[in-house]
Amino acid sequence: MNSTINVPFFDLKRQYAGIKDAIKQEIEGVLDSMIVTNGPVVSAFEEAFAKYCNTGHCAAVNSGSSALHLAMRALDIAEGDEVIVPANTFIASPWGASYVNATPVFVDCYPSTWEIDIEAVERAITPKTKAVIGVHLYGQPCDAIRLRELCDKHGIYFVEDAAQGHGSTIHGQTVGSIGHMACFSFYPGKNLGTYGEGGAVVSNDKDLIDRVKRLRNLGSAKKYYHEELGYNMRMGAIQGAVLKVKLDHLNTWNARRYAIAQRYLTEIKNPAIKHQDQPEGVISVFHLYVITTDNREHFKAYMAENGVGTAMHYPVPCHLQECYKELDYQKGDFEHAEYLASHCVSLPMFPEMTDEEANRVIEVVNAYVPASETVES
Ligand SMILES: *Cc1c(COP(=O)(O)O)cnc(C)c1O
Repeated sequence: MNSTINVPFFDLKRQYAGIKDAIKQEIEGVLDSMIVTNGPVVSAFEEAFAKYCNTGHCAAVNSGSSALHLAMRALDIAEGDEVIVPANTFIASPWGASYVNATPVFVDCYPSTWEIDIEAVERAITPKTKAVIGVHLYGQPCDAIRLRELCDKHGIYFVEDAAQGHGSTIHGQTVGSIGHMACFSFYPGKNLGTYGEGGAVVSNDKDLIDRVKRLRNLGSAKKYYHEELGYNMRMGAIQGAVLKVKLDHLNTWNARRYAIAQRYLTEIKNPAIKHQDQPEGVISVFHLYVITTDNREHFKAYMAENGVGTAMHYPVPCHLQECYKELDYQKGDFEHAEYLASHCVSLPMFPEMTDEEANRVIEVVNAYVPASETVES
């Protein structure tokens, strides 16, 4: 290996460099109007994003966590209810349920795709179950169509946590259009991100989205009249302006991520590295490119020595997080989620990565020799 380029795990500055003028112009428009929260720019983004997701309606909010919280409120999920969630996800996935005092019920994932195990979901359904949250983990759609069918059969809600999945599809259906409601995050690092915080709820059910819009706005449809306990979870107009500009680029950016991912998938041929299985009919937007390997610390150190950035998504599964210790889950409850948490490594993945950088990642990963083999030789 004679190449000496370093590859960062992620670099948002490159994206900004390409859209700077358009962003500044949109932000200036917001500032000139002095309508700086909600308002016409946010409404325009809502309309465009609903269309992008192939859904009827969208409510923009101040984060993905808020989106999940308000979805639970809009569905009247409350204390005594159970909400089924995968154990291997970002901690905010079950938090919407916890915020409304419902009980998250964790289930394991499939060992190959790392997506929520539908048979495990079916076994976890009780008379108290109100909803299932399907997470499109790393940008790859979970088996949302079958999950929706299962939920319909049991008369419960299917909510998509699409915080990592903007634009991914399953059998031609866009993520966000399959559940009763779907929640997105526009955290800066997501495939579609603000320059602050943001999120959205989409649905084909106008009443549900109208309820989310009231809840985010202090429980009020008419100024100073409050029908129910609400929150201040509105989206700032500057964030709406940023999203409006970026949405036009999202398909191009997602396609670039996909191209890099397909190269990783086909060109990384190291037996010490395991990839996420991509089921037929699924097009991931590769928010992250995650692999597993036996000795993660050794691999990460090797990558760092060779100038390639890595990360971990996520090192602790939800059921073993300190914040859920009162639910009394044990180590060993969800074998596959726990395996993933202790073996996952995220490789560099962002649309502005150059071909040279992708080459370098592939070259370095392919040259990796696991620790045990090094010791033996
Ligand atoms: C980022 C993320 C969230 C939370 O979104 P925030 O905007 O950070 O609150 C929820 N679920 C998943 C799967 C996420 O990746």
